[in-house]
Amino acid sequence: MALIVQKYGGTSVGSIEKIGKVADKVAARAKAGDKLIVTVSAMSGETNRLIALAHEMSARPNPRELDVLISTGEQMTIALLTMALLDRDIDARSYTGGQIRMVTDDAHGKARIKKIQSRKMKADLKAGRVVVVAGFQGVDDNGNITTLGRGGSDTTAVAIAAALKADECQIYTDVDGVYTTDPRIEPKARKLDTITFEEMLEMASLGSKVLQIRSVEFAGKYNVPLRVLSSFEEGEGTLITLENNDVEQALISGIAFNRDEAQLTINGVPDQPGVASKILGPVTKANIEIDMIVQNISEDGCTDFTFTVHRNDYDTVYALMEKVAKKLGAKKMKGDDAIAKISVVGVGMRSHAGIANLMFETLAKENINIRMISTSEIKISVVVDQKYLELGVRALHDAFGLDSDGKLKNL
Ligand code: ADP
Ligand code: ASP
Ligand code: MG
Repeated sequence: MALIVQKYGGTSVGSIEKIGKVADKVAARAKAGDKLIVTVSAMSGETNRLIALAHEMSARPNPRELDVLISTGEQMTIALLTMALLDRDIDARSYTGGQIRMVTDDAHGKARIKKIQSRKMKADLKAGRVVVVAGFQGVDDNGNITTLGRGGSDTTAVAIAAALKADECQIYTDVDGVYTTDPRIEPKARKLDTITFEEMLEMASLGSKVLQIRSVEFAGKYNVPLRVLSSFEEGEGTLITLENNDVEQALISGIAFNRDEAQLTINGVPDQPGVASKILGPVTKANIEIDMIVQNISEDGCTDFTFTVHRNDYDTVYALMEKVAKKLGAKKMKGDDAIAKISVVGVGMRSHAGIANLMFETLAKENINIRMISTSEIKISVVVDQKYLELGVRALHDAFGLDSDGKLKNL
């Protein structure tokens, strides 16, 4: 008898019929004797619909009220799923985030989980009930409703699994596991049987939205066995593991991409101590995250400074930079929000040279110009024009031998 936390994403609960199918799956598992906590997302499209409503009502929706609104999507699905389970003679009870005291900080729209009260859930499990919990939401210390950021139901599930020391946390979605890249972009992408936490964390933070980054962080920190599986097909899915003991380990596990970024450049700023903080300070102060940063070698005492931010923050940062550029006496500034970041990720990179070269050569062959490069121990990222995203991903997928029938080109 195992304690399992399951999470069903938006497409898996996208209609009454689909919720019924989820209920069948949960019921079968419960009848087999497992103890189950099930987290659900809102029905697909519902969170977007609620956000759009808020923006119709107000040009700048109040963050607290926005969370009150968008958390209702998950409240619908927990009730519907629980009704369906009860109809199947499975004792079950639904809870909102507030009801199980999923306590977060007060950062509306991107709240972080601080603690979870497991008492109620444990009592229900003991009484033989399936516990159904709303994903994506919590409450702050003062009882205000908060949400965990897009894709946050993944994190709800992992946090509950960590708190209750579950045997496994299963993330059910519309793909049957983690692939070498998003199968929507590259149909030749291959499902991975396992991927390390470290690699999954990079993939998620570099744009692979199959798991929310925080869910992977949590799972790594609390050692939660985490698996991504299909809601619609049988299969083992992908297990996120601590270490990869595979001897024939691939150099590259996957390719991630992100079209949510924008680039800003300030040209001809005086190359003096403190210039980086003068440029980036105001951005950080505005609570905006900076991703890549490049400063050119100076020429005639002047340098150029380029960085990227989330595309949603582009207008705000552009306005900030106009002021900074003026203050610093910069020659000019420009911005571009039609960019994309492509990254190759793999722990195999640690012990192999030549990966960067193969990446750059492959992009050059396709005539794709690289605008920025950044590297870490297990990833190389490049910024390119957005129009080359698909071409770049597919070319790299092929060059690194990731295709279903692929072979690595000679390094
Ligand atoms: P859910 O609603 O179940 O949370 P998401 O849309 O958040 O589902 O995540 C699943 C989607 O993630 C897939 O449909 C796929 O297009 C996308 N995705 C991006 N990168 C990958 C990857 N490397 N492997 C699998 N899926 C990926
Ligand atoms: N419903 C939320 C979203 O669409 C949370 C989730 O699905 O994980 O982002
Ligand atoms: Mg998701």
